[in-house]
Amino acid sequence: MALIVQKYGGSSLADAERIQAVARRIAATQTRGDQVVAVCSAMGDATDDLLALARKIMPHPEGRELDVLLSTGEMVSCALVAMALNAVPCPAVSLTGQQAGIQAGGFFGKGLIAAIEPQRVLKELEAGRVVVVAGFQGVSEDMDVMTLGRGGSDVTAVALAAALKAERCEIYTDVAGIYTADPRVVPEARKLPELDYEEMLELAAYGAKMQPRSIELAELYNVPMLVASSFTDTPGTAIRREVSMEVRERVRGVVYDLNVAKITVQSVPDRPGVAATLFEPLAAAGVSVDTIVQNASIDRTTDLSFTVARTDVRRALEVVKPVAERIHARGVTSNDALGKVSIVGTGMQFAPGYAARMFRTLADAGVNIEMITTSEIRITCIVNEAQVHEAVRTLHRAFRLEASGASK
Ligand code: ASP
Ligand code: MG
Repeated sequence: MALIVQKYGGSSLADAERIQAVARRIAATQTRGDQVVAVCSAMGDATDDLLALARKIMPHPEGRELDVLLSTGEMVSCALVAMALNAVPCPAVSLTGQQAGIQAGGFFGKGLIAAIEPQRVLKELEAGRVVVVAGFQGVSEDMDVMTLGRGGSDVTAVALAAALKAERCEIYTDVAGIYTADPRVVPEARKLPELDYEEMLELAAYGAKMQPRSIELAELYNVPMLVASSFTDTPGTAIRREVSMEVRERVRGVVYDLNVAKITVQSVPDRPGVAATLFEPLAAAGVSVDTIVQNASIDRTTDLSFTVARTDVRRALEVVKPVAERIHARGVTSNDALGKVSIVGTGMQFAPGYAARMFRTLADAGVNIEMITTSEIRITCIVNEAQVHEAVRTLHRAFRLEASGASK
């Protein structure tokens, strides 16, 4: 008998029929003799709808009350899934984040799981029940409800799997796994049978629809993951420490992200402390800065460009403009019609020429590169938003990702 954590995303729980289908899937796992903890996201777009509702009351709702509101989305889906399970019949009980012992710290809206005290979950499992846990929420030291950031149910699921020493964490969604590229953009994209944590983390951080923190946790606690569709029975993508040698192709996938804006501070004096002066207040305002490029200085001044999420650009400009004035920069410009295109693969770190090939491919497709960043296993180009999809398609072809077997 194994303990399995299964997480169901919003699209898998979008209506009563889908919820009943999920309940049958969970019940089937239980019938095979395994114990199941099911972590649920809010139904469909419920979280977005609640956010929109709050913003009608006030444009910038206060964190504490917003978290109380948003956490209800997951409670609704959990209760319905537990009811559907009991109707199968398959004995089940729903638990809020607090009841499941999920303790969170940090800021409202972006809580971090501090610890899990899973006694209640264990007790229910022992009694032979499926435990349905509300994702995306925990409780602070002051007993306030805290949500864990968008996509946070993935984090809840992996953290629970780690705390319960589950055999694996299965993430169910509306696509059959992780693909070489978004199949809506590249129809010939291929599903990847397996990925290692490092690759999955880069793919998630640069565009694949998974909460990257969940992958970090899975790697840290060595929780094997499976990403699969709740709509079909096709095998998904396994994410684990070691992948088979033959699967270690050099480029594994192309991902993109359209939530990108660039801010340029012009003619910044080139002296020690200037970068710190600019970036410290951004950090304090909770704006996370991604790519940073500082140009060679001419006449002791330099242009400093960096990217932020497009959704953060207003806040970033509010912070940066007064600082730019103080340090006598010439001005601040911004461009929020940009996107990121990245190629990812563990094999790249031992083989030269991948960057050159990426740049050549983009040049031949007439795509101008605004900025470049790399990690050991990733190369990212910031390009015009309108050219992002075309860039993904040509890179997918150039690295022959439609063919299985190693790309050359
Ligand atoms: N419902 C939350 C969101 O939409 C959490 C999740 O789906 O994981 O972000
Ligand atoms: Mg959701």
